Amino acid sequence: MDPVINVVQPALGERELAAVREVFESNWVGRGARTTAFEAAFARHLGVGSEHVTATNSCTSATFMAMELLGLGPGDEVVLPTVSFVAVGNAIAACGARPVFCDVDEATLNPTVADVEAVLTERTRAVVILHYGGRPGAVAEIAELCRDRGVHLVEDAALAVASTVDGRACGTFGDMGLWSFDHAKIVVTVDGGMLYVRDPELAARAPEVAYLGLKRPASGSSGPSTSFHSGYDQALRSNSRWWDYDVASFSRRSTTNDVLSAIGTVQLSRLEEFVDRRREIARAYDEGLAGVAGLRLPPPLPVGHTTSHFMYWVQFENGVRDRVARDLYERSIYTTFRYPLMHRVGAYGSNAVLPRAEAAAERTLLLPIHQSLSDADVDRVITEVRDCVAARSGGARATA
Ligand SMILES: *Cc1c(COP(=O)(O)O)cnc(C)c1O
Repeated sequence: MDPVINVVQPALGERELAAVREVFESNWVGRGARTTAFEAAFARHLGVGSEHVTATNSCTSATFMAMELLGLGPGDEVVLPTVSFVAVGNAIAACGARPVFCDVDEATLNPTVADVEAVLTERTRAVVILHYGGRPGAVAEIAELCRDRGVHLVEDAALAVASTVDGRACGTFGDMGLWSFDHAKIVVTVDGGMLYVRDPELAARAPEVAYLGLKRPASGSSGPSTSFHSGYDQALRSNSRWWDYDVASFSRRSTTNDVLSAIGTVQLSRLEEFVDRRREIARAYDEGLAGVAGLRLPPPLPVGHTTSHFMYWVQFENGVRDRVARDLYERSIYTTFRYPLMHRVGAYGSNAVLPRAEAAAERTLLLPIHQSLSDADVDRVITEVRDCVAARSGGARATA
């Protein structure tokens, strides 16, 4: 039996272990200087000021925070592509707003401006888009549409950690951006996320919302900090009790810690190398799978766009997707499809009909792509995909 080739896989090693050891030895594992350093490094990576970013314990938490900061609730509609992760649908529904799903482009699985525009109403308060597979999509145009309509734009950039349009980082086009560092993403802190908030006043509130809504002592200090102890200096100077606090909102605890942040800083320093390798793999798939009958490859990236290459997908023209996926699985090559269409999830109560997304969801298969794949792994995937597609599409169909 050939060794398993995973769809996704983290690349955590000695440098991350050494960083964790150092945190253990410091006797401070909670949120502190290493988290502040991770936030600063991530903000530099995005090209924004560090006062605009807050590290969280997951991207899901950041999504819930975004809804809270935007003050969304009953009577509000929030638009999102039906190809989205369930965390976003839940965050919208949990605050009492109504999720409204839009269609996507069949080849890129990203919404077009027209897809978003088609479902805007006078009740729409926000749009949450996803950069499918890491591709920016029409983010710049959708940001413009949202500005014109006075609607907030939140970018779920969980898959787009290194994606840009004309040099500008995905996640910074709208009012807020969200990233994930969970076990299956490119930058992995095991669990974790990041929230970018453009508006300075809302950005200053983000750390408060991330930490139980606790109001920090009025210190006038610049820059966010959710450290339980951040009020010490100021409180001592004003001779008050530093253990006192007030509650500004009934928020959850969404903060991360210095162990995970230390891992994140190392991972972020390796991001360019990760994405370079993923780009090579995508190119190898583009070349190795070109011209296979019945198989469509992702369209070329528009000029000025870069992608994190989080996913690589192929699309089947002849209804054999599920059978090929099973054949590959039996040959120890794992594949999958993301994301099951949200408008089909009963709990959201949608009766939308979104034909292009529905067609894409029947045809699309994600192939393994991660920075630890060897050239031999990539060749094996190409050979097996070609074999399985030929067997299922051609003469072998009669015996299948
Ligand atoms: C993983 C993921 C999330 C949620 O991230 P967590 O850190 O696991 O909460 C949100 N959106 C997308 C598109 C994701 O893939």
